[in-house]
Amino acid sequence: MLIAHRIALDPNNVQATYFARAAGTARFAYNWALAEWKRQHEAAKANPALPKPSQQSLRRQLNAIKREQFPWMLEVTKCAPQMAIIQLGQAFQNFFAGRARHSQFRRKGVHDRFTLTNDQFDIDGCRIRIPHLGWVRMRESLRFAGKPMSATISRVADRWFVSITVDTPDTSHLPQAENQGTAGVDLGVSTLVTLSTGETIPAPKPHKALLDQLRRLSRSLSRKQKGSANRKTAKARLAKLHARIANIRADTVHKLTTDLARRFHTTCIEDLNVRGMVKNRHLARSIMDTGFFEFRRQLEYKAAMRGGVVVVADRFFASSKTCSACGRKLDDLPLSVRQWTCPDCGSIHDRDVNAARNLLAYGLAALSGSTASSAGCQACGEAGSGPDRKTRVKPASMKQEVSFAPV
Ligand SMILES: [Zn+2]
Repeated sequence: MLIAHRIALDPNNVQATYFARAAGTARFAYNWALAEWKRQHEAAKANPALPKPSQQSLRRQLNAIKREQFPWMLEVTKCAPQMAIIQLGQAFQNFFAGRARHSQFRRKGVHDRFTLTNDQFDIDGCRIRIPHLGWVRMRESLRFAGKPMSATISRVADRWFVSITVDTPDTSHLPQAENQGTAGVDLGVSTLVTLSTGETIPAPKPHKALLDQLRRLSRSLSRKQKGSANRKTAKARLAKLHARIANIRADTVHKLTTDLARRFHTTCIEDLNVRGMVKNRHLARSIMDTGFFEFRRQLEYKAAMRGGVVVVADRFFASSKTCSACGRKLDDLPLSVRQWTCPDCGSIHDRDVNAARNLLAYGLAALSGSTASSAGCQACGEAGSGPDRKTRVKPASMKQEVSFAPV
């Protein structure tokens, strides 16, 4: 299983300068290749005899001209331009598959990064060796055993990080999920999650708490003259605040998903159409704040590491509108209704707890439907968590292409 560990770096001045230069080289190569791709694509359309662009051909073309046209590229690792063009190829693949938008030109100062292949770095405890540069201190050692596949060095605000992708053959050193069986997990807007046990976890509101400060800093930035030193300082302060907000959010989601993966063998969540929901302007803010997609991605890989299972309910499963006691399905239940009474059996439902209970039932049904052994092992996470069962149930949660390795 591929897993990425992101570690803060402590580069000295020379090293930080090198990072910035390598990231700049990667950006230049990416933009050069994107422009070439567009040009060659148009040319091939006009004249079918011409070859279509590909990341392989573009890498060859850049290698052929870089010594003459861009000699400064040779000052940094050859991985920086090469990997950037490979990433462009992946971006086009995602675009053609309908998973992503058309790739854009990279901009200076926006997610500056470059990637090294595994033959271009070494890790020794709390340090990483990079060609031309020597050892760079890391804030902690690599947490996962296995073969490092690649390392991406990136800048967030004023700090540099390395994200090391590791191929872990074995995660059995992690304890299996506690024996708390199955839980339905309802993702909400005001409440981050509601469990079928009735537990609720409130949504973190870092964005709102720090909003005043954010507004003040943005205003202060807009008053500064373009190109001035003051503007540069203000921009850096704003970037730091954005990074802080992102850290608070990431921390909550990580703690929550770790907790769920530790406690429950099986969790059942909704397949939210996040893309559709984000279009709704009222919901957009809270959804972006709490990061549904990230929640699901983390829950899936963390469950897999502990032999657990994530069941993803069908997009059209009416978890909110169905009575979890008798199964009566309402025609309509506006989002503002937090509590309702079932017209058939008279049960009084909390909207979110009811949804979580329906998800729990969905999860149990999905498990017994796809495995020969049923009810017995759902209550008992330990016994049912063999690799055999994992592979058979897993497809339910793998409908969406989710990369396990955040970069
Ligand atoms: Zn009912």
